[in-house]
This record gives sequence, C-alpha cells and structure tokens, in this order.
Amino acid sequence: MKKILLLGLWATSIVAFAQQNPAAVKYAATITEKNLKDDLSILASDALEGRETGKRGQKMAAAFIAAHFQDLGLKAPVNGSYYQPVPLYGSAAPTVTIKTGTTELRADEYVSFGGSDTGGPVTLPLVYLGAGTAEELAKVDVKDKAVLVALDPTASMMRNPTLTAVREKGAKVIFAIVEKAEDFQRFSGMARNFRGGGVSLRKPAGGAPNAFFVSTETAGKLFNTTYDKLKKSAGAKVAKVKPAQVSYSVAVSAYEVKSENVLGFLEGTDKKDEVLVITAHYDHIGISPNAQGDKINNGADDDGSGTVGVLALAKAFAQAKQEGHTPRRSILFMTVTGEEKGLLGSEYYSENPVYPLDKTVVNLNIDMIGRRDPQHKDSAPYVYVIGSDRLSSELHTLSETTNKTYTNLLFDYTYNAEDHPDRIYYRSDHWNFAKKNIPIIFYFDGIHEDYHKPSDEVDKIEFDLLAKRTQTVFYAAWEIANRDGRLVVDKAGK
Ligand SMILES: [Zn+2]
Repeated sequence: MKKILLLGLWATSIVAFAQQNPAAVKYAATITEKNLKDDLSILASDALEGRETGKRGQKMAAAFIAAHFQDLGLKAPVNGSYYQPVPLYGSAAPTVTIKTGTTELRADEYVSFGGSDTGGPVTLPLVYLGAGTAEELAKVDVKDKAVLVALDPTASMMRNPTLTAVREKGAKVIFAIVEKAEDFQRFSGMARNFRGGGVSLRKPAGGAPNAFFVSTETAGKLFNTTYDKLKKSAGAKVAKVKPAQVSYSVAVSAYEVKSENVLGFLEGTDKKDEVLVITAHYDHIGISPNAQGDKINNGADDDGSGTVGVLALAKAFAQAKQEGHTPRRSILFMTVTGEEKGLLGSEYYSENPVYPLDKTVVNLNIDMIGRRDPQHKDSAPYVYVIGSDRLSSELHTLSETTNKTYTNLLFDYTYNAEDHPDRIYYRSDHWNFAKKNIPIIFYFDGIHEDYHKPSDEVDKIEFDLLAKRTQTVFYAAWEIANRDGRLVVDKAGK
C-alpha cells in the first residue's frame, strides 16, 4: 500500500515537471507524413541523379531547398543569398610513367596511389636495399636516390615500417616490392577504385614522397635480372649490387568543383544573438556506372530523410513565428554539401561561420532518420541518439526530458559508446561543431542493407517514423531556443 502510494506521488511529480507546452504541440503537428513524403519524392527522385557534390543533381536539390526557405520567409543570410559557396578541388587520376633504361613499364607492372607532381621526368640512380633492415640501411646510401626495397609482408602494406624507415633516410622515390602475388593483386584492385573522384577543401599539393608498389617480377626487371637472383644479395651484400637507373614522372591535375551549403535563418526575439544550428546533408553519392540495373543512388534515407526533416522543421518554426510564437533564440537551418566526400560542407562552415561560433549554442544534426535497422525490426519507434552527453550534461537531460514529455521514442545509445568500433560520433556533420566545443545531438536510424546503394529508395521510407523523429528534434530545438539559460558546456568532449 505504502509503496503504491509513493509510486503514485512520484508519478504525479513527474507529470507536473514535464508538462506539455500547447504551442509546441501545435507546431510540431505541422510536421506531417504527407509534407515529408512530397518533399522526399522530389529530392530522392531519379531526376536528381543521386545529388553528387558539384554535379547537376546537387544543384537542383540546392535550388529546391532555397526556394522552400524563401517561401517560408526565412532570411537569406549570406549577403542576401541562401547559398554559402563551398569551393572544392577535385583531382583526376595522376598520369604516371616509369622507365627502366629505355623500356617503359606497363600499367599492370606497378601500382600507384597518386603522389606528388614531379613537374616532368626525373632520372635517378636506383639502389637495391634488400628488406631494408638496419644493417642494409647502414650499408647503402639512399639519400636523394630511387630505392628498391621489399616490404615487411607481415605488416600493413600502406603503412609499412620499411617505407617509413627508407623515407626517413631521405630517399626520393621508393619502389616497394610486394612479395605475395595475392597482395599485389589486391593492391592493383584498390588502386583502380582509387583513381579519380576525390574531392577536398584544400588544393591537392605535392608533399608525400612518391612510392610505387611493384611485383617481384617487376623488381627483377628493374635490375635487368630475376628477383630470385637479386634477393641473394641480402644483408651486407646489398652494397655490392650495382645501381640501375630509373626515370619516372607523375603529373597531378586538380580542377575546381563548385558547390554550396544552403542556409535559411529565422531570427529570434530577446536572445536572438544566440543561434541554434539544425543540419542535414543534402548531397549523396551520385551515380554508380558499374552497378547492375538501377545505377542511381537516390539516397532517400541518406540523407534525403534528414533534409526533408530540416525543411519540415523550418516550416514549423516559420509558422510559429508568423502566429506570434517566435523562438527567443535564432535558428539557422542549414543543409550542407560534400558530406559524402568527407564532411566538407560542414567543415567549411565551421571554418567560415556565417554566425559567430561563440554564439552558436547547439548543433542538432540529422543524418538518416527514415528507416529501421535490422536490430529494431520489430521494436517500438526508436532513434539512435549520439553525442548528447559529450559536452553538456544539460543538453542530455533536456533531450531525455523533452522526449519523455512529447514523442516518447525509444532512445538507443548504442553508438554513443566512446569505444564503439563504428565511430559514428565522428562520421557526420555534427563532428565539425563538436570539434569547436559546441554541444551537439546526432539523430540516426542505423545501418541497413540499402546503405549507399541504388536501392535506398523513397518507397522504403517509413514516413510515420520519419515524422515522429523529426518532431522529436523539433521539441528539443523548441526547448533549447526558448529556455532562460544558454546550455552550459561542462564536459570535455572527445
Ligand atoms: Zn549521410
């Protein structure tokens, strides 16, 4: 009896503490399955060709988002524009030639992962260094030379300690022997996939010394012998191998890629200098020319779902403002570009913020919220919540409380574990805000079988779940925007 009475009191006090705000409920209700579906059917249609950064489909998506912000009467915050230009660089596959004496190596006789531009052919003496042991390194002067050396087959090929040791001695270029044929084959495949398509914020510059990976046959060929014979001169005998000569050239060409973040700003009232930033990335991975059948990666979930979520949030707050419920703090709705190329749009914003970062109170980032992962096939409506407790205990408490008060989703913190091997905390745009000590929450639905595939389509989206999750973000934003105190950063974050 007593126990029940106590429980009863406890429940009453919770209800009193977490009373629903009728205005919040009213505007959350503007986030509907229908609106989300209408917008997503456009953003994730084949016409947008997978929204690859810098490509036509990405530009079409940007125009669609900007028009939406304009319709809502949001301020265009970048000198009167909704676009923040994000200048990027693409690099084509480098052109490499390697000659031994007068014969040019065939492309399948070595593996190159790019490297720095040589500005024309370079001819150098090529010395043989065996397996690059300390003894061998002491016997052969490698400084400013081309060096043929066998990699330690038990270590990672790319980060091989032998490569490091030879570079430290000042070698100009390394011909690294991959002794196992299957390793060489695997490397060739990796290099084929690596060629072209890279995009970065900084102009690709020379820097890393060049290294080419060669098979044992090619190693022999470089010294006009066989690898078996060459290998006999190991240890102290390496110094006796007469240097050969090699010519090589690497031409790296970079080109500009024009892309843009799309921003819409809603000004607050008495605390308008403080800004919440709500983000989703609107770019995706474009077209897969080698895919069987459907080649367009529609990215309905990744991150069409987050993008239409941001559009719906902007609409809800804009309507609240029109009807006299302007939030106290300002809100920047920002869909970013270049996420799939390495979180580039959000990194650019964090380095070139439109509103000062020291006045930026939170980043709520949404990346994939329209599906279920296999772990939650039959679960209650859920969302993975990541990062809420890393920088601000207040934010975490607020996020928990508003969820319990309003949408009551199952919050799954699996990916928030600091030692989780998938490192999700570092893998979407919020990370560029967390890095700057701005509290963040990342909302995510997990990894499913259509992740980064043409089958990530609109008809697989669960719109009721997408609406509920978007409303959950809405309530958190509402609370953060309207509370008296700014969220306190009281934790170190990692
Ligand atoms: Zn994504």
